[in-house]
Amino acid sequence: MKKTISKSDFVPKTTDDIAQLQKHLGLFGYLNAEDCAHASDELPPEPDDEESTLEPNVIEEGKLDKPTIEALKKYQHFHCLECSGKLDEGTINSMGKKRCAMPDSIVAEFSAQGNKWNKTEITYGFQNYTADNGLTPAKIHQAIAQAFSLWAAETPLSFRLVNFSANPDIRIRFASGNHGDGASFDGRSGVLAHAFYPPPNGGALAGDAHFDEAESWTINIPTGSGKIDLVTVAAHEFGHSLGLRHSNVNGSMMFPSYSGPKRALHRDDKAGIRRIYGGYNIAHASWIHGTSVQIEYPERLQRIKRAGFYTYLYGKANTTNWFHFAIPTPVIVDKKRLKILCAILRFRTFSDNAIVKHVQIYDGYSKIASHNNINLSGNQWFTKFGVAHKPYVRWGLGISLGVEFKGGTVGSRRMDFVAAGCDLIK
Ligand SMILES: [Zn+2]
Ligand SMILES: [Zn+2]
Repeated sequence: MKKTISKSDFVPKTTDDIAQLQKHLGLFGYLNAEDCAHASDELPPEPDDEESTLEPNVIEEGKLDKPTIEALKKYQHFHCLECSGKLDEGTINSMGKKRCAMPDSIVAEFSAQGNKWNKTEITYGFQNYTADNGLTPAKIHQAIAQAFSLWAAETPLSFRLVNFSANPDIRIRFASGNHGDGASFDGRSGVLAHAFYPPPNGGALAGDAHFDEAESWTINIPTGSGKIDLVTVAAHEFGHSLGLRHSNVNGSMMFPSYSGPKRALHRDDKAGIRRIYGGYNIAHASWIHGTSVQIEYPERLQRIKRAGFYTYLYGKANTTNWFHFAIPTPVIVDKKRLKILCAILRFRTFSDNAIVKHVQIYDGYSKIASHNNINLSGNQWFTKFGVAHKPYVRWGLGISLGVEFKGGTVGSRRMDFVAAGCDLIK
């Protein structure tokens, strides 16, 4: 049967709908505000003007005119929708999603805004906190450090928490409505947060990240209905703080709209941030085989076997467990104390019935990084976990994995540990 487009495929377009569309396109960088201003201020073209036969490049509010259609097509292209130039259902759904307040750039994939920090050690601090959903300053510190650690793992940058009075480079703030920087928040839903590009952008505001206090922030996963994952949105905003614009790669951290928790960078984000800051030089890497795994609760395992230099095990149904790796640690190399860049794990689980929930990195007995609620399963053959502040190593590195075994068959609760390691820098 031949598919024809029926009238019902189109949503009725009232003048208000179009005005709303134009507002959205203007707000997020698709419709030029200057074009809008011309609409009322400029005189109509002279009749004998050569260009008068062309449609004038002005926007009339509430009219689906040429510039609006062109802007709409660009929006549709960026958001991987059919470039129909029509206000269709897919477009309406996309525009209704929660998103970042920063405008989209009209290019493919990642793009750099142009500014960057001219130093590698970046400080951050909190102007205030949110108390949503039981969040405490300590929990927020952990969540924000987790967000920074994603960018730290790909670049020479390190991120250190300092007091607000020490005038941090990146100032973090929860604010609602008009909060004095010319970019008001819009209450619950809609835009969630915004950030300022690196200096000299916006003077003292450069690098700062603001979160809409009207949202219901959480660090728990599942988040619960209507709640927003702070780690995900913070990781996205810090991408802007470091100089990245929005990416049109669906699934990337720098995609403009929010579609639930995302606690790892996409290949596109990594390529983007490395384009700005370059990679890093590893001074030393140290690894240990999967057979050296230490098990917190052996009685919660159904079976454990060693094969060659890896360990495979089956958790009992509905249990949690911790697995630890002590990494042989060169603390001083060539008379220099090393710093930790990241931990790397090689493991796999056989289904979602065995899930790595948390990865924590220790130096001696102090925890130096927490990657919580990451929910990893399947093949994880080279999965990196950054340390935001890249501290000097003092006592010896350890990696701990918190794992949840659900129901299902025994075979579906299998997990293989192949190796664990750390990259160290000078
Ligand atoms: Zn954004
Ligand atoms: Zn703001």
